[in-house]
Amino acid sequence: MKVLVSGGAGFIGSALIRFLIQEADVSVINLDKLTYAASPEALDAVRASTRYHFEQVDICDREAVTSVFERHRPDAVMHLAAESHVDRSIDGPEACLQTNVVGTFVLLEATREYLKQLSTESRDAFRFHHISTDEVFGDLSPDAPPFNEVSPYSPSSPYAATKAASDHLVRAWGRTYGVPVVLSNCSNNYGPFQYPEKLIPLTVFNALRGQPLPLYGQGDQIRDWLHVDDHARALFRILCGGELGETYLVGGESERTNLEVVEAICDQLQPLIPRPGGYRPLIRFVDDRPGHDRRYAVSPSKALRTLGWTRHYSFEAGIQQTVSWYVDHQDWLFGSGADGRRLGSGSAG
Ligand code: NAD
Repeated sequence: MKVLVSGGAGFIGSALIRFLIQEADVSVINLDKLTYAASPEALDAVRASTRYHFEQVDICDREAVTSVFERHRPDAVMHLAAESHVDRSIDGPEACLQTNVVGTFVLLEATREYLKQLSTESRDAFRFHHISTDEVFGDLSPDAPPFNEVSPYSPSSPYAATKAASDHLVRAWGRTYGVPVVLSNCSNNYGPFQYPEKLIPLTVFNALRGQPLPLYGQGDQIRDWLHVDDHARALFRILCGGELGETYLVGGESERTNLEVVEAICDQLQPLIPRPGGYRPLIRFVDDRPGHDRRYAVSPSKALRTLGWTRHYSFEAGIQQTVSWYVDHQDWLFGSGADGRRLGSGSAG
C-alpha cells in the first residue's frame, strides 16, 4: 500500500510515518511544506528506507499537489497538514484559514481529479482519511458526558473553526462527489518531537532552564491526553478498517487539568535532574486567553469497539516516557529553531 501523508514532518505525522514504515510495511509519500512546526529530525529513523519519499510542497499549491499524485500514484491519503497552534491562530488567523481550509479544499480537488484516472477497483479501495481534532466540538461543561461522533460542532478559536470547516468540506466531497472519505477527531496528543510551543514540551523546555512555568488562568482547563504512538496506531486502524464516510473519535480517556499535567512533569523531572526545592515552585498563573475552552473530552468507544484498537500507554506511563525523552534529547529541544520559538503560555489546545 502507498500512502500520501500530508504534514508528515509534524509531530503526529512523523510518528505516523515512523509507524507506517517500521511496523506496517507501507510505502509513504510525505508531502510537507516544512513550516516552523516541522521537525525533519523526527524522520531520521526512516529516511533511508526505500519505502519513504519526501516532497516539499504546500498543500495550497494545486499544480504541485497534482504533480505529486501523478508521479507517486497513492492508494490513500492521510491528511494531517495544518496550522495547529491555537495561540498563533488567535494572533494571526489567516495562515490557519489558508492551510486548514483552502489547503484541504485543494487536496480534496486533487484527489477527486486523480480518482477519475483509477479503475473502479482501485477507486473503491482508495481512502481519503482526514485527521481532525476534538476542539471542533467546543467547550464541554464539567459534568457533561464526553463528546461522541454525533456531538454538534461549536468551535471557539480560529484554529478550531478552520478545522471544523475542513471536516465539513471533507464530508461534502464524500457526499457530493463520492470521494471515499473517512474522518477522525482526536484529543490532545503528547510524546516525543512535539514542537516546544505546546504545553508539555514547553514546560520541560522552561523547567530545564529554571524559567517560570506559565499556566493560563488557574490551570484548571481539562484536556483528554493520548500518547502520539497510540494515535498513530489508531489512525492506521481507521485507514484500513474504518467504514466509508464514518467518523471515529480517538482519545486516551485520561482527563487531566493543565495544572495536573504540569505538576506531573515537575515530579517526573525531579529524579532525573534534581533541582533544589523541586520544579513545582516555578509554576506561575498568567492571564487567560480569550475564548479559552474549559474542557474537552471524547468517547473513543466506537474506535475501541469496532476497530480492535487498543492503547499501550496509560497517562502515567506515557508522561514518564515523554519527559525522559525530552531530557535525553535536549539537543533537539533547545535546537536550532529555539531562537525563533515563541515561548507563550504553553497552549494545550
Ligand atoms: P504540527 O503543527 O506539529 O505539524 C503540522 C505539519 O504540517 C508540519 O510539518 C508543517 O510543516 C505542515 N504544514 C503546515 N502547513 C502546511 C501546508 N500549507 N502545506 C504542507 N504542509 C504544511 O501538527 P500536529 O500536532 O502534528 O497535528 C497534525 C494534525 O492533527 C493537524 O491536522 C491537527 O489539527 C490534528 N490534531 C492534532 C492534535 C494535537 O494534539 N497535536 C490533536 C488532534 C488533532
